[in-house]
Amino acid sequence: MANPIASHSFTDFLKPSQVIFELKAAEKVRAIEELLDVLAKDKLIKNKKLILTRVIDRERLESTAIGEHVALPHARVDTEGDIAVAVGRSEKGIDFDAIDKKKVHLIILVVWNPSIPGLFNHLFAGMARFLRRADFRKRIFEARSRTQLFDILSEIELQLPQEERIISRASLLSKLQDIEIRKKKANKEQAKELQKQTELIREELDETLLMRFDKLMQRYGFAVAEVERGVCQGCNINVATQTSSAIEGSNDIYVCENCGKFLVSTRKKKK
Ligand SMILES: [Zn+2]
Repeated sequence: MANPIASHSFTDFLKPSQVIFELKAAEKVRAIEELLDVLAKDKLIKNKKLILTRVIDRERLESTAIGEHVALPHARVDTEGDIAVAVGRSEKGIDFDAIDKKKVHLIILVVWNPSIPGLFNHLFAGMARFLRRADFRKRIFEARSRTQLFDILSEIELQLPQEERIISRASLLSKLQDIEIRKKKANKEQAKELQKQTELIREELDETLLMRFDKLMQRYGFAVAEVERGVCQGCNINVATQTSSAIEGSNDIYVCENCGKFLVSTRKKKK
């Protein structure tokens, strides 16, 4: 991990005009668009259409709802400055395909410049550290005005010695593997689209993680193995009971001590 960036308040990146106290939108894409409108109006972004596509592409890959009524949609794109943030609150709630199925009442949209890849991780970790606290969320959801909401958000401090694993990285790795496998059988056109998706995922994962992933893909044709009844499906060897139970319902990344593959729980398998 690189040196931590200087200490910031979340509101160093956020003006009251970038907070929508009550979103008009009742649906995910419209809500994101509404927030992008705010950024465009404040001249923090140029190409709204392109950014909307990027944010939605990322959202389709995997929902950015982190649970407990909060979503953090994001995209790494060329912005006017380093980073552009907009916050929207929805009293009614918006369906965001969250893992916990709960409707989202707070959306924090972040677009940031490719020249500073590390900034997003710090911002994300800082936000999540506060938003994970039930008392903090309660105050946010009970805010009675934009000013009140802004004041509460200004308490978020953004300085962390190390990144926390908030983005469900294990499932991102699974997705990356699926796409890599599909890419092999794809025609030119499909391969181009799949390549775009892999780049989106790769932007969010650590270099070391990706190096290991690529090595495993090269050697075995797959890098992520499911754990079924305590057995790694990559090598058919029992995984330590402790590891096995830790993987259950977690998105953290674990590695099989025997075959070195990334482990995911079977329960998480989708579709
Ligand atoms: Zn194994």
